[in-house]
Amino acid sequence: MTHYIGGQPVTSSRPLFANIDPATGQVVSQVHEADADTVDRAVQAARAALQGPWSTFTDGQRAAVLRKVADGIRARFDDFVAAEVRDTGKPVDLAGHLDIPRGAANFDVFADQIAQSATEAFRSPTPDGGTAINYGLRTPRGVIAVICPWNLPLLLMTWKVAPALASGNTVVVKPSEETPSTTTLLAEVMNDAGVPPGVFNVVHGFGPDSAGQYLTEHPGVNGITFTGETRTGTAIMKAAAVGVRPVSFELGGKNAALVFADCDLDAAVAGITRSAFLNSGQVCLGTERIYVERPIFDAFVLRLKEAAQALNPGDPWDEDTNFGPLISQQHRDKVLSYYARARNEGATVVTGGGIPQLPSTLSGGWWVEPTIWTGLPVNSTVLTEEIFGPCCHITPFDREEDAIAAANDTPYGLATSIWTRDVSRAHRVAAAIQVGIAWVNSWFLRDLRTAFGGAKQSGIGREGGVHGLEFYTELRNVCIKL
Ligand code: NDP
Repeated sequence: MTHYIGGQPVTSSRPLFANIDPATGQVVSQVHEADADTVDRAVQAARAALQGPWSTFTDGQRAAVLRKVADGIRARFDDFVAAEVRDTGKPVDLAGHLDIPRGAANFDVFADQIAQSATEAFRSPTPDGGTAINYGLRTPRGVIAVICPWNLPLLLMTWKVAPALASGNTVVVKPSEETPSTTTLLAEVMNDAGVPPGVFNVVHGFGPDSAGQYLTEHPGVNGITFTGETRTGTAIMKAAAVGVRPVSFELGGKNAALVFADCDLDAAVAGITRSAFLNSGQVCLGTERIYVERPIFDAFVLRLKEAAQALNPGDPWDEDTNFGPLISQQHRDKVLSYYARARNEGATVVTGGGIPQLPSTLSGGWWVEPTIWTGLPVNSTVLTEEIFGPCCHITPFDREEDAIAAANDTPYGLATSIWTRDVSRAHRVAAAIQVGIAWVNSWFLRDLRTAFGGAKQSGIGREGGVHGLEFYTELRNVCIKL
């Protein structure tokens, strides 16, 4: 698999690296790793494209091209699904119903949004008794570096690329080395849709001493949008400090669900099963801490246990499979180390805690069991550190304020879900939890026009709808004295 620069596939001189199917452990492709010269070439192509035909496109013309990109993804739907399933091992049903449709939808949404965006205007008195008109003029920021994780590869990457291009920027994308395929396919779709060469560039490789670091340190990059771990965000922020370049960060989380005794228990169990185990727990919004009001604690634990045990791990190409492997051996080692720590820290293992028995064809993959614990002390590492696996801990609570305090007792602040039938409580708790996204009686219910992002160490800035424009454009005030 090659890089994609200036509208062309491009190779580089470093040794290729293997792209592995996490469900089987088999190599599915070999990928070029960008060296500093390749990254420089990509950034120069993106800079040159800022001066090319792309700069003459009206908002409406850019919107039309983005809609063609959305249609192009849908036209090659099966190719995209197959690539995402091979790279991640996720069930074909999940890739087909979430990742790829949302990847296409991101282009439609930001096409609509840019076609309708407006800026502020003020009619202002001047000191000499006259009048001035002020208006906001949004201009593209320039070359945007887009650095993405492996958990929802096309979905999260297009969530950044679509608003960046809608705003008139050019991009250099570095997908995770675990999931290079759909970004490469998207380059072909961009070409076919009439996106001018150099507007969308792809470099493959790793983070430190590789494509990620070279890209974020490149002085030709005007802004960096990144989704990934908080620790990586810290490293990227240091690189961005040189040249005082802006960053947009979607980072880690340790999300809490609060389940009150008056909730619809069926809905709460179904929603939290999804939030803890979807994509094998590899979702930034996923729930790893659950606080349940004491009167329904035992019933909730039993119901969640039954739901976890009903999950169906297996061949990702089987439509009935709804639970896949973890992304890599390294990540499985990390998750299993937390499974061991939970036992050492005194957890009661409600279900799971090990590696599932699967057919021999899948035995080389990176599987773990969906796992639920109770009984851990508040300061245990399992309750404080992001695991990013299919596991959660359930704690009972007696008072609303105790549940809020426990939910807020974390350096992270990405998302929460609150399960109650009491409308006043829903508003009160949603306002009290320090997060960027609060769901009530739901989870991962997204209107793409709404703000998305994290509080505290879960991110900087908001994406979604008009909110992304703060990052992807410069807002100039033009003041005209009449
Ligand atoms: P990482 O932070 O490890 O990697 C993300 C991307 O950054 C990868 O492309 C990685 O390359 C690259 N990278 C790593 N180091 C550097 C560096 N020094 N300079 C530039 N780029 C670098 O995250 P994961 O891929 O492991 O994804 C999981 C994490 O993402 C979790 O913490 C999760 O919470 C978070 N996440 C947050 C979301 C949100 O919206 N808040 C959404 C989804 C995930 P390489 O792969 O080669 O290391």
